Amino acid sequence: MRRGELRFIDVHCHLHDDAFDHDRDEVVKRALKSGVEAIVTSSLSLMDLKKALEVAREHGSVKVAAGFDPLNLSIEEAEELAHAVKRISSEIVAVGEVGLDYFSVRGKDREKQIEVFRFWINIASELKLPLIVHSRSAGKYAIEILIREGYDRVLMHAFDGSSGWALKGASKGFLFSIPPSIVRSQQKIKLVRAVPIDYLAVESDAPVLGPEAAVRNEPSNVVVAAAKIAEIKKIDLAEACEILYSNSKSFFKF
Ligand SMILES: [Zn+2]
Repeated sequence: MRRGELRFIDVHCHLHDDAFDHDRDEVVKRALKSGVEAIVTSSLSLMDLKKALEVAREHGSVKVAAGFDPLNLSIEEAEELAHAVKRISSEIVAVGEVGLDYFSVRGKDREKQIEVFRFWINIASELKLPLIVHSRSAGKYAIEILIREGYDRVLMHAFDGSSGWALKGASKGFLFSIPPSIVRSQQKIKLVRAVPIDYLAVESDAPVLGPEAAVRNEPSNVVVAAAKIAEIKKIDLAEACEILYSNSKSFFKF
């Protein structure tokens, strides 16, 4: 790395999404040019995993996380995917995203969602892989379950829960990844204020959660999230980037 250059790891996005089919090479080039050394693309199903692996074979900087759509409540499908994940576990860097979505799932179905979430926590633990967790409108519940299950190699992505619960997670060593949409989110600003920088990372969650709501997001925008974190923490951008980078690097053991 040359002096003065910033480097990043985009710990969570969906680079293999159809939204990038027409210009993925350009998107990856722009990310590399911005200093993004590694991009973790998260799949949500078996089909999705196959595509993510294809994209990773084409681009050296792209790493794959094998996840399961939090809205899919079928334990049978989860088991089927887990068989495939175990076969290719040397090709993936994490399990996820998996988790809870109480925004979309209500009533009795939440019990099924918890069962599927706990299933994946156990798979991550068995494979000794980090876990990337989705927890929309369910931050408190997701953190409670993770603590109860005793798994602490956890990345809470785009956490929308309270800072109090985030601190409980951080006390167990959980990492919280911040998307570029922080520039338009008071909740994310509060979260960054509360959580020590040693427990923060940057993600793009591309193609969504960009700096502008209706515009396709891409990994190079992690720079926007890092700049906002540096501003909130009142530290130098280069210093903030190095901390965020090394948090992510040691989390994934890259
Ligand atoms: Zn995502």
